[in-house]
Amino acid sequence: MIDGGEAIRKLALNVARYSGLAPLAKPFIGGIGAILMLHRVTATPAKPDSVNRHLNIAPGFLDAVIADMKASGYAFVSMDEAVERIKAGGKGGEFATITADDAYRDNMTEALPVLEKHGAPITIYVAPGLISGTADLWWDVVEEIVDACDSLTLAKPNGSLTIDCSTTAKKVQANIRLHVYLTSEVREEDLQTVLRDLARASGVDTNGPRLRTLMSWDEIRSIAAHPLVTIGAHTINHSNLKRLSEVDARHEVGAVRGLLQAELGQEPRHFAYPYGYASAVGCREVGFVRDAGYTSAVTTRHGLLRAEHAGFLHALPRISVNGRYQSVAHIRTMLSGVTTPLANAGKMVVTI
Ligand SMILES: [Zn+2]
Repeated sequence: MIDGGEAIRKLALNVARYSGLAPLAKPFIGGIGAILMLHRVTATPAKPDSVNRHLNIAPGFLDAVIADMKASGYAFVSMDEAVERIKAGGKGGEFATITADDAYRDNMTEALPVLEKHGAPITIYVAPGLISGTADLWWDVVEEIVDACDSLTLAKPNGSLTIDCSTTAKKVQANIRLHVYLTSEVREEDLQTVLRDLARASGVDTNGPRLRTLMSWDEIRSIAAHPLVTIGAHTINHSNLKRLSEVDARHEVGAVRGLLQAELGQEPRHFAYPYGYASAVGCREVGFVRDAGYTSAVTTRHGLLRAEHAGFLHALPRISVNGRYQSVAHIRTMLSGVTTPLANAGKMVVTI
């Protein structure tokens, strides 16, 4: 998780507007490479009209994107090699590396066969708390709560707020409102308690989504042994680091290394900031991740890689392969470089 819905819609409009320019612009503003960001990859989503559908792409689309990029000269490399190529200023030609956040089971069952076909490596970022159940896949739990209710009552500092969830349109609004409530009004430390209280009142099992859709430790151990797969860290509890104290944030970033080592026998070298947007990662958090000894870290900020990123290996932007816009032309336009400054107030070198 996750893309800002509004930001990605605006970006999509810009992609459409600038797609004709893209082939002309690429030699001038194209980067040295790209980090693609995936979440779920399945041909059979349980809820095709889900509010979280932007997190899912079809395996056939992944296949088409990789084939198109390879045809235009991209080499698909591991994250370790991507870091080396960034440090070398992009010598060796255009490259791409694939990443997937949260460790969805379909990464193994539906994405991996596509990656094997192309010999394309992937880095999967794991938050141990989501796997063990000390943290919740809350964005899916929220959707189940809203689906189960006609109305919801939220505790607010000045009383309570009742949200209407009685119709399909109201449910869409209720999902948005609950996201805002849980990510900005409730303290990060209280998110789980508040979510579990709402779920209990609605008869929703908070374990359901993660058990259905995320890999188990045995499955992660199995995929970690695959030669194309690197396991990275995604904090312990999928925390918004910017909303935590320094002590807690450093613990989420540092102690996750030992937890993954204990489960998988190997310490992670690469890190992905949960949420990854500006209100979840800034200079302070980048410092924590650098101090913890990671080789690289990725955000969800939109952008191509440039040689200058050799100095910002712990704040690397990505290109989201988004489920709402599954078109190869859309990806080509983003890879041309024209959308990087559009999404970042004119900046070509996107960090945080
Ligand atoms: Zn995530």
